[in-house]
Amino acid sequence: MGIKEVSGVIHGHFYQPWRIAPFSRIPHTLIARQKKEPNPGKCFNWTELIAQQCYLALMNGDPAQSAYRHMSFNFGPTLIEQLKILCPGFLGQLIEADSLSRNAIAQAFFHTILPLDMPQDQLIQVAWGKDYFSHTFKRTPEAMWLPEAAVSLELLSFIAALGMKYAIISPTAVKRVKELGTWKDVKLTAEGRPDLLPGQPYQVRGLDPNFYVFVFDPELYHLTDQTEFLNAPPSPNWVDVFRKRLGQSGFITMATDGEFFGHHRKKGAENLLALFHQKNPGIRFTNYGTVLEEALCPPREVGVIELNPESSWSCSHGFGRWDNGCGCNKENEWRRPLREALQWLALQFDDTFIKETQTTFPFPLKPKVKYIQVLTGAKTFHQFLAEQSVRPNLTPAEFAIHSALCNAMVPRYAMFVSCAWFFEGMGLEADISLGFAAELARTLLPFKPKIEQELRSRLALVKNPGHEKRHQLPDAAHIYDNIIALAA
Ligand SMILES: [Zn+2]
Repeated sequence: MGIKEVSGVIHGHFYQPWRIAPFSRIPHTLIARQKKEPNPGKCFNWTELIAQQCYLALMNGDPAQSAYRHMSFNFGPTLIEQLKILCPGFLGQLIEADSLSRNAIAQAFFHTILPLDMPQDQLIQVAWGKDYFSHTFKRTPEAMWLPEAAVSLELLSFIAALGMKYAIISPTAVKRVKELGTWKDVKLTAEGRPDLLPGQPYQVRGLDPNFYVFVFDPELYHLTDQTEFLNAPPSPNWVDVFRKRLGQSGFITMATDGEFFGHHRKKGAENLLALFHQKNPGIRFTNYGTVLEEALCPPREVGVIELNPESSWSCSHGFGRWDNGCGCNKENEWRRPLREALQWLALQFDDTFIKETQTTFPFPLKPKVKYIQVLTGAKTFHQFLAEQSVRPNLTPAEFAIHSALCNAMVPRYAMFVSCAWFFEGMGLEADISLGFAAELARTLLPFKPKIEQELRSRLALVKNPGHEKRHQLPDAAHIYDNIIALAA
């Protein structure tokens, strides 16, 4: 026997915000060049550039030879929708790579900080993500990636209720662990590594015992994040480096933005492929679904973890980055007021939806959950209505109202995408979010004639400090007005 075989799961979270024009929802890619974004080199927008550097590079021209065959991955639905246009053959190859490996997992439909959404919104977004995955990959997903790894017990309960087997969480999510009958606090090492067994499934206190979580190891991410490592020419020493750093744990578990490989780190795609294609690497790359099956066969008792109330992977302050502000950024005053303005608008929609459709949809959650079938094209709106409505024979005017309000669920949920809050100040990403808000407000105008005026006065309170140095607009109301003017 040589060196003990190491198993490893490298998870890539591939995602881009949905670049579509407000109101028309025409993808930016199809709009004239005036929508060209600053700085993506020769490419039209960042998604196109990143597709070349990362998504296509990792495909390596052949699903069987691709990185996707060896790594766990999720592609956000809004990225897949853009890639269908930008790289028409790509999705078919991705599906083939998944059919060879079972490596794909689902993602909540819009990339929102789910625990900050209202419970019903969380449920709708994870249900949409599950159905989108099944429609795309032609199989039921086993797990769901949580945007920004933002997690709560409530959110995991929704995912478990949808029949998912596991989720991947950050070590900062774990408060305590029970192993061999004893609870202990989980401490992190200086590298942020949790005092847990890597690559082991854990049950979660308070959840269905048939649902598990895996905790990724940030040390491995930090290791590969060293620019000189991923920017170096393809190196046969990855496995050696991993082994040295990880000691005898026998398991490598890493999760990162997939764009890291090839976009954030230019040699990342090349190096990752070299790692997967090494001869006799002494490491078996697999996915958590396989690890889970092996860990539970034969059935055995596993550890139980207790979650911290709030945690994510891009903010060490819980959800502060997307809510009331935190130490991750200097300028924070705008974050909470923007969220509050959009939450107010969302409630206006929810209220209108109930009032206008209550005789057709007496239980609105079910049609809201099922509307994903229209978005994927699995059903026409007529078919959807025939199945979900308790009242046949809508008048043409009623049909138009139902169609408009159901269609407005897209901006209703999309406007909370996490990217809007991610950066310093309100830039391109906040613009996308407010574009959805504008579309939603305009849809609600016939039902609430003052809605735009009221929304605008709320947005005027969302100041954008430091906007001048970033060539941005001074507050969210100005951004809103600009969106309306461009759409006119
Ligand atoms: Zn933070």
